[in-house]
Amino acid sequence: MRVAMISEHASPLAVLGGEDAGGQNTHVAELSAALADAGHDVRVYTRRDGPDAPEAVRLRAGVEVVHVPAGPPRPIAKDELLPYMKDFSRWLVARWRGDDWVPEVVHAHFWMSGLAGIAAGRQTGIPVVQTYHALGTVKRRHQGAADTSPARRVGYERALGRAVDRVIAQSQDEVRELVRMGVPQARMTVIPSGVNDETFSPDGPAVPRMPGRPRILTVGRLVERKGYQDVIRAMPMVPDAECVVVGGPPAGEVDDDPQVRRLRALADEVGVADRVRLIGAVPREEMPYWYRSADVLVAAPWYEPFGLTPLEAMACGVPVVGTAVGGLTDTVADGQTGDLVPPRDPEALGTALRDLLADRVRRYGYAAAALDRARRWYSWTRTADQIAAVYTAVSEVRRPSGVVAG
Ligand code: UDP
Repeated sequence: MRVAMISEHASPLAVLGGEDAGGQNTHVAELSAALADAGHDVRVYTRRDGPDAPEAVRLRAGVEVVHVPAGPPRPIAKDELLPYMKDFSRWLVARWRGDDWVPEVVHAHFWMSGLAGIAAGRQTGIPVVQTYHALGTVKRRHQGAADTSPARRVGYERALGRAVDRVIAQSQDEVRELVRMGVPQARMTVIPSGVNDETFSPDGPAVPRMPGRPRILTVGRLVERKGYQDVIRAMPMVPDAECVVVGGPPAGEVDDDPQVRRLRALADEVGVADRVRLIGAVPREEMPYWYRSADVLVAAPWYEPFGLTPLEAMACGVPVVGTAVGGLTDTVADGQTGDLVPPRDPEALGTALRDLLADRVRRYGYAAAALDRARRWYSWTRTADQIAAVYTAVSEVRRPSGVVAG
């Protein structure tokens, strides 16, 4: 099928680890690649955020990234992008009406892409599938006044859920959240994100480490809700281990970064500054080296729509100590591939880390089970197959006129 991915702020070409570039970028890149491998023809539409960005870039065979001129050609925080979504959808409509490449299905990622997608889909009669990646209701619940999302986000997300042809939820927790928002469950299909088992595997180089010092790894954008402060507060309970934090600014800008400074000050305050290393963003291709070097991955978010990093660690044969939130409650099998603890609870986190690091037999058992689980249930091939089946289903219920049947 000809598939139009819309990912307004998260380009598959972006460097990951910064404030607005993480799991969604990876998801769109990997899903597009797996769909192309299965013979589909994919175009990813993302906002042009630089004056020199070429109109189109071929990512690989079967996947083209198209830079849509919507808003000024410079980086803009995602919470400021809503005003440009009308231009985004107008451009898509003009393109699909005038071009010889017309998609058979639109797959929108994040709510703003959904708005552009549904507007363009309605005018062209193309069915629209929605993946939210994150929900405004959840963000507001956890962040309160610190949430900088547009006020209308939650209302738009609810309306989108009722307007699109199908919602793809990434976890059981997301289904519950969507139902609470008023999105009918019958419109949803649960399909988890995946992990690339060629990139992420136990075999291959690993970053060296100091003998006798267990390594706890944590990875992600340096935003408050990822819970790095809780990890640092847990470190006094694991006195021999070092904690490596991957993510945030590019390596050369780490020392000046306000989030890094805040976390380093905290590490100093709790007496673990010599055992906590914030190393900044690591290029995607080097991520496996870091996972392989770790005894355990800790993922301590306050909330997490899906969470790719636990899966990436599992695919490298690394057990996970995580918080029992969002997608982690599906991906991490508690007591089999890792341990789940309550969020915002450094003591529980510290206890779980201490016990696991002290128990080599359990760690090896978790590692083997984690690898097995990641490979068996979370391959991109499997995810792409399931998503392609949704594309086929939504296309088949459309009449030729483009009106939704029934
Ligand atoms: N990542 C990376 N380099 C970094 C930090 C993160 O390549 O320095 C990648 C990581 O491997 C994962 C993604 O960014 O693929 C983060 O996704 P996740 O779902 O864990 O979190 P999100 O960013 O969506 O909140």
